[in-house]
Amino acid sequence: STFKALGIAPGYIKSLQELGIETPTAIQSKVIPVLLEKQTDLIGLAQTGTGKTAAFGLPLLHHIDPDEPVIQALVLSPTRELAQQIKKQLFKFTKYNDKKIFAEGIYGGEKIDRQIENLKRTTHIVVATPGRLVDLIEQGVVDLSHIRTVVLDEADEMLSMGFKEELNRILRYTSGKRNTWLFSATMPGEIQQIVKKYMSPKAIQI
Ligand code: AMP
Repeated sequence: STFKALGIAPGYIKSLQELGIETPTAIQSKVIPVLLEKQTDLIGLAQTGTGKTAAFGLPLLHHIDPDEPVIQALVLSPTRELAQQIKKQLFKFTKYNDKKIFAEGIYGGEKIDRQIENLKRTTHIVVATPGRLVDLIEQGVVDLSHIRTVVLDEADEMLSMGFKEELNRILRYTSGKRNTWLFSATMPGEIQQIVKKYMSPKAIQI
């Protein structure tokens, strides 16, 4: 298959080519058409290094309205390094967009005041680690009211790092009309609990 056949817009295909991303990986072929076409919850069983960032990142970008200067999507990751990597990839994918899409990183190990300042600029996507995000939510500096998509990347890792309570809080705070896209290499009982509590029984499993 090709990214074009999966429904990816020409500008994104151009930036993917520059990144050496020409042929969709297995997870990209399965996930992209589903997430582009439907408003759905999704459970993706996926190891790292399989191209899952583009699998969720490209549909996520397609669903952002650049004219709405509000946080429309949240991506949660277990570590600061992964969050930075995701943010960087999203930025590279949007190189040829006419209208800019702004992603902000919220993670520990950096000055919280600086992140609070950054959130005052236009932000469409927040890429965060759970602990620091909860801090900022509880300080009232993150507007969650327009979030339509929450991505849980490496959900099993987030749980094994002890973020269960933070995840539960974030998912409660963003409940309502949002879709949840959960990616995990394994599906232990704690993940099943999150799926049951916060995701649709109609969630698509890939
Ligand atoms: P990820 O699993 O998302 O962390 O991606 C792992 C690496 O594979 C990253 O460096 C991506 O840029 C790269 N990558 C993602 N999708 C593709 C693809 N379809 N073809 C070649 N490389 C890819």
